[in-house]
Amino acid sequence: MLIVGPPGAGKGTQAARLADALSIPAISTGDIFRANVSQQTELGVLAKSYMDKGEYVPDSVTNDMVRARLAEDDATGGFLLDGYPRTLDQVEALDGVLDSLGTSLDAVLLLVVETEAVVERLVARGEAEGRSDDTEETIRHRLSVYSEQTAPLIDVYEARGLVRRVDGMASIDEVTAALQDALGAR
Ligand code: AMP
Repeated sequence: MLIVGPPGAGKGTQAARLADALSIPAISTGDIFRANVSQQTELGVLAKSYMDKGEYVPDSVTNDMVRARLAEDDATGGFLLDGYPRTLDQVEALDGVLDSLGTSLDAVLLLVVETEAVVERLVARGEAEGRSDDTEETIRHRLSVYSEQTAPLIDVYEARGLVRRVDGMASIDEVTAALQDALGAR
């Protein structure tokens, strides 16, 4: 499964809860990049230069990282991807990876939120967690990159009949419950 939505929609929070309830790993490309940044790996140094500007890390790098992660043992029984795919190139790469693993997507969960509310959430998160890409200017840029490059993916998955929309403006517990309902998992 995938969980999709603009920055600040609550993907990370909900992915962790849902994955826990379903006993599958939540795989966040943003978290993997941040772990590499803090360990100062070669990948981390490269990723940071894009992340700090609110730009996407190049597809080839991101696709290779996801391909390796999905081949790990804990992902054989299913997984919830958070923050990937974000471009059409990544959609194609994921299709290829899933094909080669002999599997396919069951659902694309879309968190629907209001833009100004997510800007406020992200500014607050930047202050609380010290995330260097959560300043207002970078947030607005990330939102515009999302609308240009990632929002069009929803149509692709919609055409495949996979999209389940959930109101992301409700409380954290309500959103988790709605996501489980959308999956018929409650
Ligand atoms: P996130 O934690 O999902 O908001 O991701 C934080 C940052 O990591 C993004 O703004 C991008 O710079 C980078 N990133 C995460 N996932 C991807 C992806 N699928 N493709 C390219 N860049 C990504």
